Amino acid sequence: VKYILVTGGVISGIGKGIIASSTGVLLKSLGLNVTAIKIDPYLNIDAGTLSPLDHGEVFVLKDGGEVDLDLGNYERFLDVTLTRDNNITTGKVYRNVIEKERKGDYLGKTVQVVPHITDAIQDWVERVAKIPVDRAPDVCIIELGGTVGDIESAPFVEAMRQFQFRVGHDNFCLIHVSLIPVVGSVGEQKTKPTQSSVRDLRGLGLNPDIIACRSSKPLEADIQSKISMFCHVPPEQVLAVHDCKSIYHVPILLESQGLLDVLQRRLKLNTIPVSPHRLTFG
Ligand code: ADP
Repeated sequence: VKYILVTGGVISGIGKGIIASSTGVLLKSLGLNVTAIKIDPYLNIDAGTLSPLDHGEVFVLKDGGEVDLDLGNYERFLDVTLTRDNNITTGKVYRNVIEKERKGDYLGKTVQVVPHITDAIQDWVERVAKIPVDRAPDVCIIELGGTVGDIESAPFVEAMRQFQFRVGHDNFCLIHVSLIPVVGSVGEQKTKPTQSSVRDLRGLGLNPDIIACRSSKPLEADIQSKISMFCHVPPEQVLAVHDCKSIYHVPILLESQGLLDVLQRRLKLNTIPVSPHRLTFG
């Protein structure tokens, strides 16, 4: 299985879920089988006890799992049926480790966030990525909720830092979704928040392969090259995702900028190369 981690910078709710789902749908168009995992770094075991005003509607899966609404996007975009285990929360991981501790699985050891929680996260991701959604998955998209640098998401970020070595360079890539705000009366697009969030990410040992820039209007060309230069990512790997009328336009927007070419090269995907604008989506 190849893994694509989607992280977010600057603020939450900028469209990580839509970019993760869109990436999945594009990979599916290559004939690959795609599954998805959503990580929610809160202590609730599941979204069933959260107010819809706080975190959006609960999405109920076929197996009865009460999960984050992003799982609904994945099921719709990817045409798959996911399980409750496809939504990992801090609560679930801690419960798993604490139950093992009570059974004596770690007898004699001090149970710690590193390595016990971080190992549990990696084992969980590896196990769930192999669950057939229709056929055995070729690619697993992992969306990490919240923003990089939060106290809450730290164990997951550390787990993913270790995970890239567990699965190998060719099997792991990272898409960082960041916000480009427009400020001032002249409406200038600002790159500084993105630069800081990429610096935070690198400080935690994760290197973005692709930076997806969310902005209200299409990104100006000089802004795109500035992000490439200051964030040390090749220009063709800086993608612009402006606010669209429909979220179903996002896959086309990403593909028109060559996302699949980048992923095929980076993950050495065993598929036929795509020509630009091959995808029309009806
Ligand atoms: P996150 O996963 O970062 O919390 P979501 O993917 O759930 O964010 O998106 C937050 C909201 O923004 C959703 O209502 C979604 O439909 C909307 N949205 C995301 N991307 C776009 C886009 N490119 N254009 C317009 N709306 C978008």
